[in-house]
Amino acid sequence: MEKWPIGVFSSIDAGLGVKLEVAHELEIPTVHLHAPHKASRTQENAEKFLKRLEEFGIRITVVFGGFEGESYADIPTTARTIGLVPAETRAERLVELKEIADFAKLLGVDAVALHLGFIPPDDGAIFDEVVAVTQEVCDYCRDLGQNFHLETGQETAEGLLHFIAAVDRDNLFVNFDPANMILYGSGEPIEALGKVGRYVRSVHCKDAKWAAQPGQEFGAEVPLGEGDVAVAKFLAKLNEIGYEGPLTIEREIPQDPERQKAEVGAGVKLLNDLKASFLA
Ligand code: MG
Repeated sequence: MEKWPIGVFSSIDAGLGVKLEVAHELEIPTVHLHAPHKASRTQENAEKFLKRLEEFGIRITVVFGGFEGESYADIPTTARTIGLVPAETRAERLVELKEIADFAKLLGVDAVALHLGFIPPDDGAIFDEVVAVTQEVCDYCRDLGQNFHLETGQETAEGLLHFIAAVDRDNLFVNFDPANMILYGSGEPIEALGKVGRYVRSVHCKDAKWAAQPGQEFGAEVPLGEGDVAVAKFLAKLNEIGYEGPLTIEREIPQDPERQKAEVGAGVKLLNDLKASFLA
């Protein structure tokens, strides 16, 4: 398989990421797919969707889970509402994540990913509960022949490595998003990538600027190449750790699809230029 095929974060009906038609227009061969709403996750829709993907020459490499009630409004809200960490919604979200893994299986996709939430410190029952639910997800995915990828961002590299070791499952990997490290103020992304490199099975090419008070407030997401990630160094580090999978652009401005398309298009060009210099 080609090294570093370009990708983009996409969705059918969830309102996130670019539409498939846009990915096709920009000649992007792979996507990370945000899981569609429950009503759309049927065998019939999977078949229709696969047909469209085939016409477009697009391959899904990862299916991302997401849930009703999640909000990225600010860091405290994110910590309170995202993923499998909040106790009050954990059981129902676990059920839904398994259904999403089943849908990914219908699509023939062997990786499911999730923003798990803010992993609590390893000093009590909540950490153990989050470890246990993650083990259950991993075991469910394993039975479907799938890996489970943790979206990075909220944790430091050390925190993430500690959690992965605690879960202790060989199908648990990392979707590395360098911009999230900056947005959440959880560490220098390139250094963090070096530390978690052996677990990285998918990446988001996204850029951001540090906040004045990292960790207290969000940094700002910006178009790829205009932030503090240093995209050339990011690719150099990916090369160093031996990552050869898709370079998946993520640009979450669905409220402005024209701008999104223009910025994703510019991101494709930037990555293709950098790729050419690395692979030359
Ligand atoms: Mg991401």
